[in-house]
Amino acid sequence: MIRKILIANRGEIALRIVRACRELGIRTLAVYSEADEQSLHVQLADEAICIGPAPSSESYLRADRILSAAELADVDAIHPGYGFLSENAEFAEQCESCDITFIGPKSETIRQMGHKARARETVSKAGVPIIPGSDGPVDDEKIAVKTAQKIGFPVIIKAVSGGGGRGMRIAHNAATFAKEFQSARLEAEKAFGDGSLYIEKYLEDPRHIEFQILADQHGNTIHLGERDCSVQRRHQKVIEESPSPFLDKSLRNRMGKAAIKAALAADYVNAGTIEFLVDAKGNFYFIEMNTRIQVEHGVTEEATGIDLIKEQIQIASGNRLSFSQKDISLTKHAIECRICAENPAKGFIPSPGTIDLYYAPGGHGVRVDSHVYGGYTVSPHYDSMICKLITYGRTRKIALDRMYRALSEYLIRGIDTNVEFVKAVILDPAFRQGEATTSYVEEFLARAPKELFEKKPKE
Ligand code: ADP
Repeated sequence: MIRKILIANRGEIALRIVRACRELGIRTLAVYSEADEQSLHVQLADEAICIGPAPSSESYLRADRILSAAELADVDAIHPGYGFLSENAEFAEQCESCDITFIGPKSETIRQMGHKARARETVSKAGVPIIPGSDGPVDDEKIAVKTAQKIGFPVIIKAVSGGGGRGMRIAHNAATFAKEFQSARLEAEKAFGDGSLYIEKYLEDPRHIEFQILADQHGNTIHLGERDCSVQRRHQKVIEESPSPFLDKSLRNRMGKAAIKAALAADYVNAGTIEFLVDAKGNFYFIEMNTRIQVEHGVTEEATGIDLIKEQIQIASGNRLSFSQKDISLTKHAIECRICAENPAKGFIPSPGTIDLYYAPGGHGVRVDSHVYGGYTVSPHYDSMICKLITYGRTRKIALDRMYRALSEYLIRGIDTNVEFVKAVILDPAFRQGEATTSYVEEFLARAPKELFEKKPKE
Protein backbone atom coordinates (compact mmCIF):
# COMPACT_ATOMS: atom_id res chain seq x y z
CA MET A 1 0.00 0.00 0.00
CA ILE A 2 1.21 3.52 -0.78
CA ARG A 3 0.89 5.80 2.27
CA LYS A 4 3.42 8.51 1.43
CA ILE A 5 4.80 9.78 -1.89
CA LEU A 6 7.91 11.85 -2.56
CA ILE A 7 7.33 14.25 -5.46
CA ALA A 8 10.60 14.52 -7.38
CA ASN A 9 9.63 17.64 -9.30
CA ARG A 10 8.64 21.30 -9.01
CA GLY A 11 6.21 23.85 -10.44
CA GLU A 12 2.69 23.08 -11.59
CA ILE A 13 3.19 19.31 -11.95
CA ALA A 14 4.38 19.00 -8.33
CA LEU A 15 1.28 20.87 -7.22
CA ARG A 16 -0.90 18.69 -9.47
CA ILE A 17 0.51 15.55 -7.78
CA VAL A 18 -0.01 17.01 -4.27
CA ARG A 19 -3.67 17.59 -5.19
CA ALA A 20 -4.22 14.04 -6.48
CA CYS A 21 -2.54 12.56 -3.38
CA ARG A 22 -4.66 14.65 -1.05
CA GLU A 23 -7.84 13.36 -2.70
CA LEU A 24 -6.55 9.80 -2.31
CA GLY A 25 -5.62 10.33 1.36
CA ILE A 26 -1.89 9.84 0.65
CA ARG A 27 0.74 11.97 2.44
CA THR A 28 3.19 13.97 0.33
CA LEU A 29 6.82 14.95 0.66
CA ALA A 30 7.97 17.85 -1.51
CA VAL A 31 11.65 18.19 -2.34
CA TYR A 32 12.80 21.62 -3.47
CA SER A 33 15.77 23.72 -4.45
CA GLU A 34 16.73 26.90 -2.63
CA ALA A 35 15.10 28.90 -5.46
CA ASP A 36 11.73 27.21 -4.84
CA GLU A 37 11.35 27.72 -1.11
CA GLN A 38 8.32 29.96 -1.65
CA SER A 39 6.72 27.67 -4.23
CA LEU A 40 3.14 26.53 -3.74
CA HIS A 41 3.95 22.83 -3.92
CA VAL A 42 6.36 23.26 -1.00
CA GLN A 43 3.73 25.10 1.01
CA LEU A 44 0.92 22.66 0.23
CA ALA A 45 2.73 19.32 0.63
CA ASP A 46 2.56 17.66 4.05
CA GLU A 47 6.34 17.70 4.41
CA ALA A 48 9.21 19.34 2.53
CA ILE A 49 12.97 18.83 2.32
CA CYS A 50 15.47 21.15 0.59
CA ILE A 51 17.76 19.19 -1.73
CA GLY A 52 20.21 21.86 -2.86
CA PRO A 53 20.88 25.10 -4.72
CA ALA A 54 18.88 26.47 -7.67
CA PRO A 55 20.58 24.79 -10.68
CA SER A 56 18.74 21.52 -11.49
CA SER A 57 22.07 19.71 -11.76
CA GLU A 58 22.52 20.50 -8.04
CA SER A 59 18.97 19.68 -6.93
CA TYR A 60 16.15 18.17 -9.06
CA LEU A 61 18.60 16.04 -11.06
CA ARG A 62 20.45 14.74 -7.97
CA ALA A 63 19.14 11.19 -7.62
CA ASP A 64 21.35 10.63 -4.55
CA ARG A 65 19.85 13.59 -2.66
CA ILE A 66 16.31 12.67 -3.64
CA LEU A 67 16.80 9.07 -2.50
CA SER A 68 18.30 10.26 0.81
CA ALA A 69 15.23 12.43 1.36
CA ALA A 70 13.04 9.41 0.55
CA GLU A 71 14.85 7.26 3.14
CA LEU A 72 14.80 10.03 5.73
CA ALA A 73 11.06 10.65 5.38
CA ASP A 74 10.27 6.95 4.94
CA VAL A 75 8.19 7.24 1.76
CA ASP A 76 6.73 4.24 -0.10
CA ALA A 77 6.83 5.71 -3.59
CA ILE A 78 8.31 8.45 -5.79
CA HIS A 79 6.35 10.32 -8.46
CA PRO A 80 8.82 11.81 -10.94
CA GLY A 81 6.38 14.08 -12.87
CA TYR A 82 7.75 15.06 -16.30
CA GLY A 83 11.26 16.25 -17.24
CA PHE A 84 14.11 15.99 -14.70
CA LEU A 85 14.53 12.30 -13.67
CA SER A 86 11.19 11.05 -15.05
CA GLU A 87 12.76 9.20 -17.99
CA ASN A 88 16.01 8.29 -16.32
CA ALA A 89 16.25 4.48 -16.29
CA GLU A 90 19.06 4.45 -13.68
CA PHE A 91 16.96 6.49 -11.28
CA ALA A 92 13.99 4.12 -11.71
CA GLU A 93 16.40 1.21 -11.13
CA GLN A 94 17.79 2.82 -7.98
CA CYS A 95 14.23 3.25 -6.65
CA GLU A 96 13.54 -0.42 -7.43
CA SER A 97 16.67 -1.51 -5.56
CA CYS A 98 15.80 0.69 -2.55
CA ASP A 99 12.37 -0.95 -2.49
CA ILE A 100 10.67 2.33 -3.25
CA THR A 101 7.91 2.21 -5.87
CA PHE A 102 8.76 4.33 -8.91
CA ILE A 103 5.42 5.63 -10.23
CA GLY A 104 5.97 4.84 -13.88
CA PRO A 105 7.02 1.91 -16.07
CA LYS A 106 9.80 -0.57 -15.31
CA SER A 107 13.37 0.70 -15.69
CA GLU A 108 14.00 -1.67 -18.66
CA THR A 109 11.02 -0.15 -20.48
CA ILE A 110 12.32 3.39 -19.92
CA ARG A 111 15.72 2.29 -21.25
CA GLN A 112 14.21 0.53 -24.28
CA MET A 113 11.83 3.33 -25.33
CA GLY A 114 14.11 6.22 -24.25
CA HIS A 115 16.53 5.21 -27.01
CA LYS A 116 14.52 6.58 -29.91
CA ALA A 117 16.17 4.45 -32.59
CA ARG A 118 15.59 1.28 -30.55
CA ALA A 119 11.98 2.33 -29.89
CA ARG A 120 11.40 2.62 -33.66
CA GLU A 121 12.71 -0.90 -34.11
CA THR A 122 10.58 -2.30 -31.25
CA VAL A 123 7.27 -0.91 -32.50
CA SER A 124 8.05 -1.56 -36.15
CA LYS A 125 8.57 -5.27 -35.39
CA ALA A 126 5.09 -5.24 -33.84
CA GLY A 127 3.62 -3.90 -37.11
CA VAL A 128 3.28 -0.20 -36.18
CA PRO A 129 4.19 2.10 -39.12
CA ILE A 130 7.36 4.18 -38.69
CA ILE A 131 8.80 6.99 -40.85
CA PRO A 132 11.34 5.71 -43.39
CA GLY A 133 14.78 6.23 -41.86
CA SER A 134 18.08 4.74 -40.76
CA ASP A 135 18.24 1.28 -39.22
CA GLY A 136 19.37 2.34 -35.78
CA PRO A 137 21.91 5.06 -34.95
CA VAL A 138 24.39 6.32 -37.58
CA ASP A 139 27.46 7.78 -36.01
CA ASP A 140 29.79 7.96 -38.99
CA GLU A 141 29.22 11.13 -41.02
CA LYS A 142 30.06 9.52 -44.39
CA ILE A 143 27.69 6.61 -43.81
CA ALA A 144 25.10 9.09 -42.53
CA VAL A 145 25.11 11.17 -45.72
CA LYS A 146 24.78 8.00 -47.83
CA THR A 147 21.87 6.89 -45.66
CA ALA A 148 20.23 10.31 -46.10
CA GLN A 149 20.64 10.09 -49.89
CA LYS A 150 19.04 6.66 -49.85
CA ILE A 151 16.09 7.91 -47.75
CA GLY A 152 15.79 11.01 -49.99
CA PHE A 153 16.06 14.68 -48.93
CA PRO A 154 14.79 16.50 -46.94
CA VAL A 155 15.73 14.45 -43.86
CA ILE A 156 15.63 15.18 -40.15
CA ILE A 157 18.64 14.29 -38.02
CA LYS A 158 17.59 13.39 -34.47
CA ALA A 159 19.31 12.52 -31.20
CA VAL A 160 18.63 8.95 -30.03
CA SER A 161 18.39 10.27 -26.46
CA GLY A 162 16.53 13.41 -27.55
CA GLY A 163 13.62 15.26 -26.01
CA GLY A 164 12.10 18.73 -25.76
CA GLY A 165 12.76 19.41 -29.44
CA ARG A 166 16.55 19.56 -28.89
CA GLY A 167 19.28 17.83 -30.91
CA MET A 168 17.17 17.94 -34.09
CA ARG A 169 18.24 19.41 -37.45
CA ILE A 170 16.68 19.39 -40.91
CA ALA A 171 18.96 18.83 -43.93
CA HIS A 172 17.54 19.76 -47.34
CA ASN A 173 20.40 18.44 -49.46
CA ALA A 174 23.74 16.62 -49.34
CA ALA A 175 25.67 19.94 -49.40
CA THR A 176 24.24 21.14 -46.06
CA PHE A 177 24.02 17.70 -44.46
CA ALA A 178 27.48 17.66 -42.80
CA LYS A 179 26.95 21.01 -41.08
CA GLU A 180 23.52 20.01 -39.74
CA PHE A 181 24.82 16.60 -38.66
CA GLN A 182 27.68 18.19 -36.68
CA SER A 183 25.47 20.76 -34.98
CA ALA A 184 22.87 18.10 -34.06
CA ARG A 185 25.68 16.02 -32.53
CA LEU A 186 27.08 18.96 -30.53
CA GLU A 187 23.65 19.94 -29.23
CA ALA A 188 22.79 16.33 -28.32
CA GLU A 189 26.11 15.87 -26.49
CA LYS A 190 25.53 19.05 -24.53
CA ALA A 191 21.87 18.43 -23.70
CA PHE A 192 21.82 14.65 -23.16
CA GLY A 193 25.47 13.63 -22.73
CA ASP A 194 24.96 11.37 -25.75
CA GLY A 195 25.78 12.54 -29.27
CA SER A 196 24.37 9.45 -30.98
CA LEU A 197 22.08 10.33 -33.91
CA TYR A 198 19.56 8.69 -36.28
CA ILE A 199 17.90 9.91 -39.46
CA GLU A 200 14.27 10.08 -40.61
CA LYS A 201 12.62 11.31 -43.78
CA TYR A 202 11.40 14.86 -43.05
CA LEU A 203 7.64 14.98 -43.53
CA GLU A 204 6.30 18.28 -44.90
CA ASP A 205 3.46 19.82 -42.86
CA PRO A 206 2.37 16.82 -40.79
CA ARG A 207 0.07 16.92 -37.79
CA HIS A 208 1.40 15.80 -34.40
CA ILE A 209 -1.22 13.51 -32.90
CA GLU A 210 -0.49 11.41 -29.82
CA PHE A 211 -2.41 8.74 -27.91
CA GLN A 212 -2.67 8.45 -24.14
CA ILE A 213 -2.09 4.92 -22.87
CA LEU A 214 -2.93 3.39 -19.50
CA ALA A 215 -1.70 -0.10 -18.67
CA ASP A 216 -2.04 -1.90 -15.34
CA GLN A 217 0.17 -4.67 -13.94
CA HIS A 218 -2.44 -7.32 -14.83
CA GLY A 219 -2.18 -7.11 -18.60
CA ASN A 220 -4.95 -4.55 -19.26
CA THR A 221 -3.81 -1.92 -21.76
CA ILE A 222 -6.18 0.74 -23.07
CA HIS A 223 -5.97 4.13 -24.78
CA LEU A 224 -7.76 7.33 -23.77
CA GLY A 225 -7.98 8.85 -27.21
CA GLU A 226 -5.74 11.42 -28.79
CA ARG A 227 -4.31 14.87 -28.33
CA ASP A 228 -3.54 17.10 -31.29
CA CYS A 229 -0.31 18.98 -30.51
CA SER A 230 0.42 20.44 -33.94
CA VAL A 231 0.78 24.04 -32.74
CA GLN A 232 4.50 24.09 -31.89
CA ARG A 233 7.33 26.57 -31.79
CA ARG A 234 10.86 25.20 -32.27
CA HIS A 235 9.40 21.66 -32.17
CA GLN A 236 7.89 22.39 -28.74
CA LYS A 237 4.16 22.28 -28.09
CA VAL A 238 2.25 25.49 -27.34
CA ILE A 239 -1.43 24.52 -27.76
CA GLU A 240 -2.90 21.01 -27.39
CA GLU A 241 -6.44 19.73 -27.75
CA SER A 242 -8.53 16.60 -27.48
CA PRO A 243 -10.18 15.33 -29.63
CA SER A 244 -8.16 16.28 -32.72
CA PRO A 245 -10.17 18.28 -35.28
CA PHE A 246 -8.49 16.13 -37.97
CA LEU A 247 -9.40 12.58 -36.92
CA ASP A 248 -12.59 10.78 -37.86
CA LYS A 249 -13.86 7.71 -36.03
CA SER A 250 -12.19 5.22 -38.33
CA LEU A 251 -8.72 6.86 -38.19
CA ARG A 252 -9.03 7.26 -34.41
CA ASN A 253 -9.76 3.53 -34.12
CA ARG A 254 -6.87 2.53 -36.33
CA MET A 255 -4.41 4.85 -34.58
CA GLY A 256 -5.68 3.79 -31.13
CA LYS A 257 -5.12 0.14 -32.01
CA ALA A 258 -1.60 0.91 -33.29
CA ALA A 259 -0.85 2.83 -30.06
CA ILE A 260 -1.92 -0.17 -27.97
CA LYS A 261 0.22 -2.46 -30.14
CA ALA A 262 3.22 -0.18 -29.53
CA ALA A 263 2.59 -0.16 -25.76
CA LEU A 264 2.27 -3.95 -25.69
CA ALA A 265 5.49 -4.32 -27.69
CA ALA A 266 7.22 -2.27 -24.98
CA ASP A 267 5.64 -4.41 -22.23
CA TYR A 268 4.34 -1.11 -20.92
CA VAL A 269 2.91 -0.48 -17.44
CA ASN A 270 1.47 2.83 -16.11
CA ALA A 271 0.63 6.00 -18.08
CA GLY A 272 2.49 6.62 -21.33
CA THR A 273 2.12 8.40 -24.64
CA ILE A 274 2.57 7.15 -28.17
CA GLU A 275 3.38 10.03 -30.52
CA PHE A 276 2.58 9.94 -34.24
CA LEU A 277 2.99 12.27 -37.20
CA VAL A 278 0.03 12.19 -39.57
CA ASP A 279 0.13 13.38 -43.20
CA ALA A 280 -2.66 15.14 -45.09
CA LYS A 281 -3.94 11.81 -46.44
CA GLY A 282 -4.27 10.32 -42.96
CA ASN A 283 -1.17 8.09 -43.14
CA PHE A 284 0.28 7.92 -39.65
CA TYR A 285 3.77 7.08 -38.39
CA PHE A 286 5.14 6.45 -34.89
CA ILE A 287 7.81 8.99 -33.84
CA GLU A 288 8.38 8.19 -30.19
CA MET A 289 6.99 6.98 -26.89
CA ASN A 290 7.10 9.13 -23.77
CA THR A 291 7.33 6.88 -20.73
CA ARG A 292 5.87 9.35 -18.23
CA ILE A 293 2.96 11.68 -17.67
CA GLN A 294 2.90 14.41 -20.35
CA VAL A 295 2.66 18.15 -19.72
CA GLU A 296 -0.61 18.15 -21.72
CA HIS A 297 -2.29 15.28 -19.84
CA GLY A 298 -4.95 17.70 -18.54
CA VAL A 299 -6.78 17.91 -21.88
CA THR A 300 -7.29 14.15 -21.85
CA GLU A 301 -8.53 14.38 -18.26
CA GLU A 302 -11.13 17.00 -19.19
CA ALA A 303 -12.17 15.26 -22.42
CA THR A 304 -12.56 11.81 -20.79
CA GLY A 305 -13.30 12.70 -17.15
CA ILE A 306 -10.46 10.45 -15.92
CA ASP A 307 -7.83 11.66 -13.43
CA LEU A 308 -4.57 10.39 -14.90
CA ILE A 309 -2.37 11.11 -11.87
CA LYS A 310 -4.70 9.13 -9.62
CA GLU A 311 -4.70 6.31 -12.18
CA GLN A 312 -0.88 6.32 -12.18
CA ILE A 313 -0.88 5.91 -8.40
CA GLN A 314 -3.57 3.18 -8.51
CA ILE A 315 -1.60 1.27 -11.14
CA ALA A 316 1.64 1.61 -9.14
CA SER A 317 -0.24 0.27 -6.10
CA GLY A 318 -1.01 -2.89 -8.08
CA ASN A 319 -4.71 -2.17 -8.60
CA ARG A 320 -6.55 -3.17 -11.76
CA LEU A 321 -7.91 -0.48 -14.10
CA SER A 322 -11.49 0.15 -13.01
CA PHE A 323 -12.68 0.68 -16.61
CA SER A 324 -12.13 -0.92 -20.00
CA GLN A 325 -11.73 0.41 -23.54
CA LYS A 326 -15.47 0.44 -24.19
CA ASP A 327 -16.03 2.74 -21.18
CA ILE A 328 -13.76 5.44 -22.65
CA SER A 329 -15.07 8.23 -24.85
CA LEU A 330 -14.08 11.80 -25.53
CA THR A 331 -17.30 13.32 -24.25
CA LYS A 332 -15.99 16.89 -24.06
CA HIS A 333 -13.68 19.02 -26.16
CA ALA A 334 -10.70 20.33 -24.17
CA ILE A 335 -7.95 22.71 -25.20
CA GLU A 336 -4.79 23.83 -23.43
CA CYS A 337 -2.56 26.86 -23.91
CA ARG A 338 0.89 26.75 -22.34
CA ILE A 339 1.38 30.18 -20.81
CA CYS A 340 5.08 31.00 -20.67
CA ALA A 341 7.23 33.79 -19.28
CA GLU A 342 8.66 34.72 -22.66
CA ASN A 343 8.57 37.37 -25.36
CA PRO A 344 7.04 36.17 -28.66
CA ALA A 345 8.03 39.38 -30.45
CA LYS A 346 11.70 38.66 -29.64
CA GLY A 347 11.87 35.06 -30.82
CA PHE A 348 10.14 33.74 -27.67
CA ILE A 349 13.12 34.53 -25.43
CA PRO A 350 12.46 33.71 -21.74
CA SER A 351 11.44 36.60 -19.50
CA PRO A 352 12.13 35.60 -15.89
CA GLY A 353 11.41 38.06 -13.08
CA THR A 354 8.90 38.94 -10.39
CA ILE A 355 5.17 38.95 -11.13
CA ASP A 356 3.88 42.21 -9.60
CA LEU A 357 0.22 41.68 -10.22
CA TYR A 358 -1.59 38.44 -10.98
CA TYR A 359 -5.19 37.53 -11.62
CA ALA A 360 -5.99 34.10 -13.08
CA PRO A 361 -9.15 33.40 -15.09
CA GLY A 362 -11.95 31.22 -13.75
CA GLY A 363 -15.60 30.39 -14.25
CA HIS A 364 -17.41 27.53 -15.95
CA GLY A 365 -15.22 25.16 -17.96
CA VAL A 366 -11.89 26.77 -17.04
CA ARG A 367 -8.99 24.94 -15.37
CA VAL A 368 -5.81 26.71 -14.28
CA ASP A 369 -2.85 24.43 -13.48
CA SER A 370 -0.25 26.84 -12.18
CA HIS A 371 2.17 27.31 -9.31
CA VAL A 372 2.55 31.10 -9.60
CA TYR A 373 0.88 33.99 -7.77
CA GLY A 374 1.29 37.77 -7.33
CA GLY A 375 4.76 38.41 -5.89
CA TYR A 376 6.15 35.10 -7.25
CA THR A 377 9.56 35.24 -8.89
CA VAL A 378 9.97 33.20 -12.09
CA SER A 379 13.47 31.74 -11.84
CA PRO A 380 15.81 31.77 -14.85
CA HIS A 381 16.99 28.29 -13.78
CA TYR A 382 13.92 26.37 -14.98
CA ASP A 383 11.48 26.04 -17.83
CA SER A 384 9.59 29.23 -18.67
CA MET A 385 6.09 27.67 -18.48
CA ILE A 386 4.10 29.36 -15.70
CA CYS A 387 0.62 28.03 -16.34
CA LYS A 388 -1.39 25.49 -18.29
CA LEU A 389 -4.67 27.15 -19.06
CA ILE A 390 -7.30 24.57 -20.04
CA THR A 391 -10.86 25.22 -21.17
CA TYR A 392 -13.46 22.63 -22.07
CA GLY A 393 -17.03 22.28 -23.20
CA ARG A 394 -19.46 20.20 -25.25
CA THR A 395 -18.02 21.31 -28.60
CA ARG A 396 -14.73 22.61 -30.00
CA LYS A 397 -16.34 25.99 -30.62
CA ILE A 398 -17.45 26.30 -26.99
CA ALA A 399 -13.96 25.34 -25.77
CA LEU A 400 -12.30 27.85 -28.15
CA ASP A 401 -14.67 30.74 -27.31
CA ARG A 402 -14.14 29.95 -23.64
CA MET A 403 -10.35 29.97 -24.12
CA TYR A 404 -10.52 33.40 -25.73
CA ARG A 405 -12.67 34.67 -22.88
CA ALA A 406 -10.32 33.16 -20.24
CA LEU A 407 -7.21 34.60 -21.92
CA SER A 408 -8.88 38.02 -22.02
CA GLU A 409 -9.31 37.88 -18.22
CA TYR A 410 -5.73 36.81 -17.54
CA LEU A 411 -3.70 39.54 -15.84
CA ILE A 412 0.07 39.01 -15.43
CA ARG A 413 2.19 42.12 -14.84
CA GLY A 414 5.92 42.45 -14.29
CA ILE A 415 7.13 39.87 -16.82
CA ASP A 416 6.51 39.29 -20.54
CA THR A 417 4.21 36.42 -21.47
CA ASN A 418 2.79 34.79 -24.59
CA VAL A 419 -0.85 35.50 -23.59
CA GLU A 420 -1.51 37.91 -26.48
CA PHE A 421 0.19 35.55 -28.92
CA VAL A 422 -1.95 32.51 -28.02
CA LYS A 423 -5.03 34.73 -27.97
CA ALA A 424 -4.31 35.74 -31.58
CA VAL A 425 -3.92 32.08 -32.55
CA ILE A 426 -7.24 31.16 -30.90
CA LEU A 427 -8.93 33.85 -33.05
CA ASP A 428 -7.12 32.92 -36.27
CA PRO A 429 -9.51 31.45 -38.90
CA ALA A 430 -7.00 28.79 -40.07
CA PHE A 431 -6.57 27.50 -36.52
CA ARG A 432 -10.29 27.66 -35.81
CA GLN A 433 -10.98 25.61 -38.92
CA GLY A 434 -8.66 22.90 -37.59
CA GLU A 435 -6.09 23.38 -40.33
CA ALA A 436 -2.98 23.72 -38.13
CA THR A 437 -0.03 21.47 -38.95
CA THR A 438 3.40 21.56 -37.30
CA SER A 439 4.36 24.43 -39.67
CA TYR A 440 1.46 26.54 -38.43
CA VAL A 441 3.30 28.85 -35.96
CA GLU A 442 5.95 29.76 -38.51
CA GLU A 443 3.29 30.54 -41.14
CA PHE A 444 1.23 32.49 -38.62
CA LEU A 445 4.21 34.58 -37.46
CA ALA A 446 5.02 35.47 -41.06
CA ARG A 447 1.54 36.91 -41.68
CA ALA A 448 0.48 38.17 -38.23
CA PRO A 449 0.99 41.87 -37.44
CA LYS A 450 3.59 42.18 -34.64
CA GLU A 451 1.37 44.36 -32.42
CA LEU A 452 -1.07 41.47 -32.23
CA PHE A 453 1.02 39.48 -29.84
CA GLU A 454 2.91 42.21 -28.10
CA LYS A 455 1.83 43.11 -24.58
CA LYS A 456 -0.98 45.65 -24.59
CA PRO A 457 -0.07 48.97 -22.96
CA LYS A 458 -1.41 49.34 -19.42
CA GLU A 459 -4.87 50.84 -19.35
P1 ADP B 1 11.26 15.37 -28.99
O1 ADP B 1 11.41 14.07 -28.27
O2 ADP B 1 12.50 16.22 -28.93
O3 ADP B 1 10.01 16.10 -28.63
P2 ADP B 1 9.99 14.24 -31.38
O4 ADP B 1 10.59 13.08 -32.07
O5 ADP B 1 8.83 13.96 -30.47
O6 ADP B 1 11.14 14.99 -30.54
O7 ADP B 1 9.58 15.35 -32.42
C1 ADP B 1 9.15 16.65 -32.01
C2 ADP B 1 8.56 17.40 -33.18
O8 ADP B 1 9.53 17.54 -34.22
C3 ADP B 1 7.38 16.72 -33.84
O9 ADP B 1 6.16 16.98 -33.19
C4 ADP B 1 7.42 17.36 -35.24
O10 ADP B 1 6.91 18.67 -35.22
C5 ADP B 1 8.92 17.44 -35.51
N1 ADP B 1 9.38 16.20 -36.19
C6 ADP B 1 9.97 15.12 -35.62
N2 ADP B 1 10.25 14.17 -36.56
C7 ADP B 1 9.82 14.66 -37.75
C8 ADP B 1 9.81 14.16 -39.10
N3 ADP B 1 10.32 12.98 -39.41
N4 ADP B 1 9.27 14.95 -40.06
C9 ADP B 1 8.74 16.17 -39.79
N5 ADP B 1 8.73 16.69 -38.52
C10 ADP B 1 9.26 15.96 -37.53
